[in-house]
Amino acid sequence: MAAPGLRLGAERLFAMPGVLELLSRSNSTSQAFAEVLRLPKQQLRKLLYPLQEVERFLAPDRRQDLHLRIFDPSPEDIARADNVFTATKGNRIDYVSSAIRIDHAPDLPRPEVCFIGRSNVGKSSLIKALFSLAPEVEVRVSKKPGHTKKMNFFKVGKHFTVVDMPGYGYRAPEDFVDMVETYLKERRNLKRTFLLVDSVVGIQKTDNIAIEMCEEFALPYVIILTKIDKSSKGHLLKQVLQIQKFVNTKTQGCFPQLFPVSSVTFSGIHLLRSFIASVTGNLD
Ligand code: GDP
Repeated sequence: MAAPGLRLGAERLFAMPGVLELLSRSNSTSQAFAEVLRLPKQQLRKLLYPLQEVERFLAPDRRQDLHLRIFDPSPEDIARADNVFTATKGNRIDYVSSAIRIDHAPDLPRPEVCFIGRSNVGKSSLIKALFSLAPEVEVRVSKKPGHTKKMNFFKVGKHFTVVDMPGYGYRAPEDFVDMVETYLKERRNLKRTFLLVDSVVGIQKTDNIAIEMCEEFALPYVIILTKIDKSSKGHLLKQVLQIQKFVNTKTQGCFPQLFPVSSVTFSGIHLLRSFIASVTGNLD
C-alpha cells in the first residue's frame, strides 16, 4: 500500500514537497519506476504528462480546447500500472500466437486491447516500449513486401491481451481491410482500440479509413500521437490542436483526450500503460 495522500491528480504531484520521495520509497513502486520518480521535476513531468508540458505554451483561452485531464491517474496508479506491465514469475508477459483470420485468433478470455495504424507510424516501436519491462517479449514484425501481415497476440499475465494489428496503407495486403474489419466487428472481449497517428504529419487519408471503421462499428477508440520527439514544440502544438479539433467535432466514439508518445524518449509511455490498465479493469 502506498502512503495515504498519494491518490492525487498529476498537478499536485509536483506541487507537494516530499510526495515524489515518499512514492519512490513505497513498497508498491517497482524499482524501475522509483528511478523514474527521482528524475528532475521538469524531466519527470515531460515523461509522465507530455501534453501538460505542451499546454504551458498555449494561450490561456485556447487551453479549454484540449481535454488533458479526463484521464488523470494518480502517481500511485501509474506505479500500479507499471507493475502490471512488469514481467515476473507470477506475471508472465508473452507472445501467444499470430493469425491471419479471426477464426484462427486464439480464444483468450481476458479483456483485449488492439493497436492499429499506418505502416511506419511507429506501432511496433510503441509496443516494444510498452513491453520494455518485459524485455524477453519479442515483438515480431514482418515488413518485407509481399509477406502476409498478421495479427499478433500478446498476453500480459492474467490481466489482458494486447493485439498488434497489421499496418495499413502503403503495400498493405489486399485482405487487410477484411481482416481488421472482421476483427473489430466480431471480437467480443475487445475493450479499446488504439489508433496511431504520426504527430509529424497528422491525420492522413488512410487514417480516415480506420477512423471511419471505428465510428461505423461504434467502437470505443483512442488516438495516440506517435514520434513526438521529432517535432519542435510549436509544430507539435499545432498538430495537437488540429487533431483535437477533429476529435471534438467529427467523432463520436473517440476518447476526447489524446495520448502523445515517443518510443525514443519514453514520453507518454507510463500514462498510456496506466490507461490500458484502467480500461481493462486493472486499476479498479
Ligand atoms: P510500424 O511500421 O508502425 O511498426 O513502425 P516502426 O515502429 O517500425 O517505426 C517506423 C520508423 O519510425 C522506424 O524507423 C522507427 O525507428 C521510427 N520511430 C518509431 N517510433 C519513433 C519515435 O517515437 N520517435 C522517433 N524519432 N522515431 C520513431
